[in-house]
Amino acid sequence: MSMSAPAGATGVITVDLGALKSNWQTLAALVGRAECAAVVKADAYGLGADHVIPALKAAGCRTFFVATAEEARQARLLAPSAVIYVLDGLLPDSAPALADIGARPVLSTLDDVRAWAELCRARGRPLAAGLHIDSGLNRLGLPEAEVEAVAADADLLAAFELTLVMSHLACADDPDAAMNTAQHRAFERLRARLPTAPASLSASDGLMLGKPYHFDLVRPGYALYGGQAFQGGSTPVVPVVSLAVRVLQVHDVPLGETVGYSATWRAVQPSRIATIAAGYADGIPRHLSADSASEGGEVKIGGAICPVVGRVSMDLITVDITDAPQPVARGDWAELIAAELPIERVAKRAGTIGYEILTRLGRRFHRVYVE
Ligand SMILES: *Cc1c(COP(=O)(O)O)cnc(C)c1O
Repeated sequence: MSMSAPAGATGVITVDLGALKSNWQTLAALVGRAECAAVVKADAYGLGADHVIPALKAAGCRTFFVATAEEARQARLLAPSAVIYVLDGLLPDSAPALADIGARPVLSTLDDVRAWAELCRARGRPLAAGLHIDSGLNRLGLPEAEVEAVAADADLLAAFELTLVMSHLACADDPDAAMNTAQHRAFERLRARLPTAPASLSASDGLMLGKPYHFDLVRPGYALYGGQAFQGGSTPVVPVVSLAVRVLQVHDVPLGETVGYSATWRAVQPSRIATIAAGYADGIPRHLSADSASEGGEVKIGGAICPVVGRVSMDLITVDITDAPQPVARGDWAELIAAELPIERVAKRAGTIGYEILTRLGRRFHRVYVE
């Protein structure tokens, strides 16, 4: 494997920006007349907003969603003329900073709405903002009573420019969940009380539920990065991320000896073990540890997918390469995320979801961007 990483890099995350762009274009085509935005919160799901935002912009994306004011500031520098929505809405006193950079808060409480309206009055113009209404997730968004309070207050509504009414689905990954239709109905009912504005209900999985869920704008994040969370079929996206780490040592472990902290794995045959340069400090879940009784993670190494053995430690993982068809040597690359080892598979083994694997990949890994 050839890798344009600096000498001494212990691990390399390769981000395929060409795949990222084509994923956005595929989803944009899938939703037809609805606008396809991009969710780039948490440093573009850990992949590096400073590369991901320009690539998506080049692909044609005009609207970005971030979580925080700091993320909005970074996004604004990268995309000076894009529409930027801030999903966390307003914190007390954060409105002026958002207004200064032309970012649009997604207002999610009546207090948020009042604070934004007040700022608009002070500045003498109706600044754009989105409104997050709660359709049943009970996480963030105006409950019905607050939607009614906003709808009944003409002065409040006149103070700012309502550019998006959105809500968020709880069970979009499951196309059979009754909650999807219930939330769709609640969203329709609540937004009808408000002045007409572009509407958005769906993220990566919701857009896979079909046209009724597209409304005017969809907000995919995970799928753009190659994620396959939707359970009702495969999302038409390709992998974007791979992760390779260095082999530091290869050694033979005699029958009966143990490997790693707490001596949880014991060799039942003479074994060959590769130690690779990644650990829980790099976001590789400790739940990928394997003892003699239970399986853990997998690593592509020596031409095969080999099992993790023993504990995942802070900086190191041990892998049983006894049955690998090709020789493995110090300095070789071992793959933790690859075509055969998609993030969903890694996540399942660790008892988590691909989102968590992606967003926790550590800062020690070098990131390489290819087209
Ligand atoms: C994170 C988030 C998204 C993107 O979700 P994905 O499942 O990654 O597509 C969309 N909308 C809201 C409100 C979010 O919090």
